[in-house]
Amino acid sequence: MRTFEDSYRHKGLRRQLVEVIRQKGITDERVLDAILHIPRHFFMDSAFDKIAYEDRAFPIGEGQTISQPYTVAYQTQLLEIKPYEKVLEIGTGSAYQASVLAEMKAQVYTIERQKKLFDLNKQFPYLKKYPSLKFFYGDGYEGLPTYGPFDKVIVTAAAPFIPPKLVDQLKPGGLMVIPVGEGQVQRMLRLTKQADGTATQEVFDNFSFVPMVEGKNS
Ligand code: SAH
Repeated sequence: MRTFEDSYRHKGLRRQLVEVIRQKGITDERVLDAILHIPRHFFMDSAFDKIAYEDRAFPIGEGQTISQPYTVAYQTQLLEIKPYEKVLEIGTGSAYQASVLAEMKAQVYTIERQKKLFDLNKQFPYLKKYPSLKFFYGDGYEGLPTYGPFDKVIVTAAAPFIPPKLVDQLKPGGLMVIPVGEGQVQRMLRLTKQADGTATQEVFDNFSFVPMVEGKNS
């Protein structure tokens, strides 16, 4: 069960969470501001209410997780989001990361392969706040060719390799932030699409994500 009440206690815990993330090295004030304003406890079962603002991942069902706030902030900071940019997210999950992007005024297209998680978000009243946030049930390896190209792509599951179709759907000058690796740990990579269609790569810190799985799951 979920509850949608945002109390002074929740708001206070959010301020503390923002300071924790800032201490860990996040400097983009627009990212920190989005985290300050979004009631993260709405995105998980009310059983987690007391601990929802700890800087850690939580289960959201179907063996999946809502990412750790630091990880959300880290990926979002690398994306360098500007208002009205078109952003493709792979791995909607709880829709928390998608909401952070929408709160920063991006036009967000997010894909989830688990039907149950996709359906849950259709009945999630908070998300009505973001009319520019669009949900798709499908396989993220395919991207959304009919809606692209995108300014930015963010992958929030561990990719064994860089999906070529996602690179194709990036605009020239566009950025993709993606954790790549097959084991327990992945490297955060940032790709910059070049005018000739190739991409250059920067390597950042290690993280641990649930796997990016091919195909849809009904
Ligand atoms: N961004 C999410 C994190 C969810 S965890 C959040 O803020 O809560 C990663 C999600 O990626 C899971 O929900 C998983 O089902 C989904 N996923 C894994 N492989 C996928 C694929 N090929 N296409 C779309 N979603 C995928």
